[in-house]
Amino acid sequence: MSRSLKTTRTAVVLLMITLLCALWVVVLGTIWGEHKRTLEANERFMGQLNAAVEEQTLGLMRLIETCLDSANMWIEHHPGENPCCAPGFIELVESYRKRSGGLVDIRLVTRKGQLQYVGVQGARGPLADVSDREYYMAQQYDSSRGFFIGQPVKSRVTGKWGVPISVPVLNKKSPVSVLFCMVELERVAALHEAVRIKPRGTVSILRTDGVSLSRVPFREDIVGQSLAGTPQFKTHLEGRERGFAIWATTLDGVDRFVSHARLGQYPLIVVVTSAVDAVLAPWRKLVFGLVALAIAASVMGVYLGQRLFMAMADKDAAHAAMQRLASTDTLTGLMNRYAFMAAAKRELERARRNGRDLSVLMIDMDHFKAINDTHGHAVGDKVLRSLGRMLTELLRSIDTAGRLGGEEFCVLLPETDLKGAAEVAERLRRECEARPVRSAGSDLMKTLSVGVAQLAGAEETATELIHRADLALYRAKKNGRNRVELADDPAPTGFA
Ligand code: GH3
Ligand code: MG
Ligand code: MG
Repeated sequence: MSRSLKTTRTAVVLLMITLLCALWVVVLGTIWGEHKRTLEANERFMGQLNAAVEEQTLGLMRLIETCLDSANMWIEHHPGENPCCAPGFIELVESYRKRSGGLVDIRLVTRKGQLQYVGVQGARGPLADVSDREYYMAQQYDSSRGFFIGQPVKSRVTGKWGVPISVPVLNKKSPVSVLFCMVELERVAALHEAVRIKPRGTVSILRTDGVSLSRVPFREDIVGQSLAGTPQFKTHLEGRERGFAIWATTLDGVDRFVSHARLGQYPLIVVVTSAVDAVLAPWRKLVFGLVALAIAASVMGVYLGQRLFMAMADKDAAHAAMQRLASTDTLTGLMNRYAFMAAAKRELERARRNGRDLSVLMIDMDHFKAINDTHGHAVGDKVLRSLGRMLTELLRSIDTAGRLGGEEFCVLLPETDLKGAAEVAERLRRECEARPVRSAGSDLMKTLSVGVAQLAGAEETATELIHRADLALYRAKKNGRNRVELADDPAPTGFA
């Protein structure tokens, strides 16, 4: 692999990694940011909803308290009258019922614990004995007497669930001892159902002692049950003014976001929840889409990167092959003239730079034409190939051999002086003579003539050096062939 390809490959890998990292950083950042935004928006929204339910419940409680107080005042101011059949009292109760849309319905309990219902047609009753009810009993003891929110009860008259809120009658001489208002859970549930977060969100009202008063969606099995023993109540609700939490609801195991607040001066807690799953559903969709997209983009990126790599490697291999082809002599595998001359220039510069010797051998096969003529061109080629192999075999790795054309070879011998080069030339000559080429069952004798020249002077070029070796070769031919001749020193330059 070429260096430039390696560098380009590294750059491509780094670019790909950077792009993929950037992609995933953006994707994960978006997912994280969206998660945070979704939770924040949910908490804000639930807080607002909680405040709205708080406001609504507070309004209802105030209305109930006002109604009970004014009914009590009426009894106080009409000492001789029995409120159960006094038109003024009946009118008062009826006006509250109408004003509250049926939510506030005042009832009376006589000193004997008998329930009296005040209707438009007057009082009806006694309807039932309620002396065992918590809302009645509470008013009998000093410790609990006063505004009292009772446990939800199923009416013995209507069969409907309601939360009784009672006060003691101040006038001790009145036949009525307790006034209470029954808040029908059905009506409260209708109000809460309209605002709860669907699906699986809930709105509940608890007493601060943990008794569940109302919950939408309505569940009869928990109405009036105490949640005081649950870990959720103990950890989050007990003794806290308000808060926001996530917990798995004991009732159905659903994970919920919970916003809760105590209701001012009343011993009540408003709890608004939303299902975690439902709140995070749009975010999960976004995560799924983004991750799928990012994975697709990553796979695509890696695939394209790989293709790019392969294309680059192919191009590099083709380039290397072309370069090899352009610089190699196809017959012998040695350098061709072009590549050899370039190598000669490089070696010459290096020798000069380092102050080292450099010698050149010009080699020509003797009477090669005769081999061609006698044995054919193919045998001539075989002889040339064997000479090429021999040069590769006998020369050092730092030496460079090339075929300049025909049966003319040239060798660069770095860090070698004329004497050393002459020894190399002599060895090559001897080896060539000693290694006949086998052709058509007989050994073909061949010899070499070699011209040797050493780089001299500061000005000599590669061409001039090779030319001097060529002149020495010419002399070797002239002096009988199969011999080595040393070149003369270069002619002096400049003025004599
Ligand atoms: P000398 O001893 O004076 O060098 O005699 P020679 O016959 O070798 O003379 P010369 O250098 O003129 O002849 C070179 C011959 O080499 C001529 C040409 O036909 C032959 N030749 C050149 N290139 C190739 C080649 O690639 N393959 C073969 N088989 N022969 C080639
Ligand atoms: Mg020749
Ligand atoms: Mg020749």
